[in-house]
Amino acid sequence: MAWKQSLRDRNGENNWTDGLDAPGAKPAGQALRRMFPGASDELIAWALEMAVHPPTGTINCLALNSKGEMSGVTTTSGLAWKIPGRVGDSPIIGAGLYVDQDVGAAGSTGRGEENIRAAGAHTIVENMRHGMDPKQAVLECLKRISRNFNDDKSKLEKFDINFYCLRKDGAYAGGSLWSGRMTRGYMAARRFAVNDGGESRLENCVYLYERKS
Ligand code: ASP
Repeated sequence: MAWKQSLRDRNGENNWTDGLDAPGAKPAGQALRRMFPGASDELIAWALEMAVHPPTGTINCLALNSKGEMSGVTTTSGLAWKIPGRVGDSPIIGAGLYVDQDVGAAGSTGRGEENIRAAGAHTIVENMRHGMDPKQAVLECLKRISRNFNDDKSKLEKFDINFYCLRKDGAYAGGSLWSGRMTRGYMAARRFAVNDGGESRLENCVYLYERKS
C-alpha cells in the first residue's frame, strides 16, 4: 500500500488505489501503525522507506558444492503492473535459469521479454561450453540482446537486463546491459553477491554500455 501510494503519474496523480488521494484518506504510515501498534516510530519509518525504495529485488542464485554438483534458482514477482497472465522469463528453463552439470549455470534478472528472445541462460551456458570464459559468455549474450534492437541505444536505455553465471570450475561473472542505474538521484553501479567460502562480498558486473544519466 505504501508503495502504491507513492506512485504518481507525470501530472502527480495516483489512480491506482481506492481513495488514497481522496479527502480523508489515511497515509500509509497510519495504516502501518494500526497494524503494528507496538512498533517504534523508527521501525515504521524504515518500513515505509523500504516499501517505497526497495533496496533489493529478484534473485538468481547459482551454487557449486564441494562435490562439484551445481544448482540454481531464480525468484521473481514478475513485473509491477504486468498484464494478467504474463509469465516472464524466470520460470522458463533456458531463459531465466539454466544449469548443466558438465559446463556450468546461468540466470537472469531484468526485462524478461528480452531475455526470452535470446534464451539468455542457455545461450550463456552454451557459450561457456564452446570455450568462452564467464565474462565473455555473458557479454556475448548481452550483444545479442542489443542486436535485437539494431544496437539502438535510445531503445535499449528503456530497460535493464542482468546475467549471472558460474562455471563448473568455480569461475563466475555478473554482467548487465548498462553500467548502472539511477537510484535516488545517484548512479549506482551494477553489482552482484559472491560467497566462495569466506565472507560474502559484492563485485561489479561487466557491462555492455556506459549509462551516463
Ligand atoms: N525477469 C523478471 C521478469 O521479467 C523480472 C525480474 O527481474 O524479476 O518477469
